[in-house]
Amino acid sequence: MIDLSGKIAVVTGGARGIGAATTSQLVACGAQVVIADVRQDAAEEAARRLAPGVHGRYVDVTDSSSVRELVESVAAEFGRLDIWINNAGIVEDSLALDLADDVWQRTIDVDLTGTFYGAREAGRYMCAHGGGAVVNISSIAAYRATRPEHHVAYDVAKIGVAHMAKVLASEWATAGVRVNAVAPGYTNTDILKDVGANNPEIMKSWLSQIPQGRLIDPEEIARVVTFLASDAASSITGQVVHADAGFTA
Ligand code: NAD
Repeated sequence: MIDLSGKIAVVTGGARGIGAATTSQLVACGAQVVIADVRQDAAEEAARRLAPGVHGRYVDVTDSSSVRELVESVAAEFGRLDIWINNAGIVEDSLALDLADDVWQRTIDVDLTGTFYGAREAGRYMCAHGGGAVVNISSIAAYRATRPEHHVAYDVAKIGVAHMAKVLASEWATAGVRVNAVAPGYTNTDILKDVGANNPEIMKSWLSQIPQGRLIDPEEIARVVTFLASDAASSITGQVVHADAGFTA
């Protein structure tokens, strides 16, 4: 049994999907959780729904001052910060030759830069206060070109956050901060609609490529993230766990 009693966790993009499921898991293990999302109303609504022990806050992960203010306010309000889940993410389906500059930049800003800002600001606090755990959410798309949908900006951002975990784990190991990544497969959340989940042909193609022949429940990813965030994973740092129903096997 994972025991997170007394721990304070932040889940970015936690208002729905994998982030909300992770919040529920962390709370079930005894942590208090701050859901931080660019959709503040949705974060507060999710916090009420998942309460007690959950708090909704605003953050835009693309804005380093917003991320820094979140870390400072959590530390001031709760007196500690133990776990940071870099979960916020966006994806827009597009072929490289049609990819508009602004879509490329927006995707890199949220998925790669936003993850770095979160890790850096949480890591700054954790390195100075005796340690902690950071988990970045990568993707199968970091390890295999997905098809029939394509989204090169997302894919390179997601391999970036996986490698970021290795580099930061090395930098911060002696400070007691562990950094890992989870690379989920096709998981049944709203983001899948942005890459074609409403299209029966695309869904059929995905299912035919997944050895387990199914989408993943957000709770299945949440359990892996919670394990990595806990002391049960005390010797694991700088790793990527593939939770993808066999997609990259
Ligand atoms: P989702 O769209 O349901 O949730 C993403 C959340 O991030 C939303 O609540 C959104 O408001 C928030 N967000 C977006 N931009 C933000 C910003 N600038 N600042 C703060 N919050 C922001 O998606 P999900 O499926 O739950 O995805 C969660 C993570 O898992 C993402 O990083 C995604 O890339 C990754 N992932 C998802 C799948 C999948 O199949 N669902 C597969 C692999 C990886």
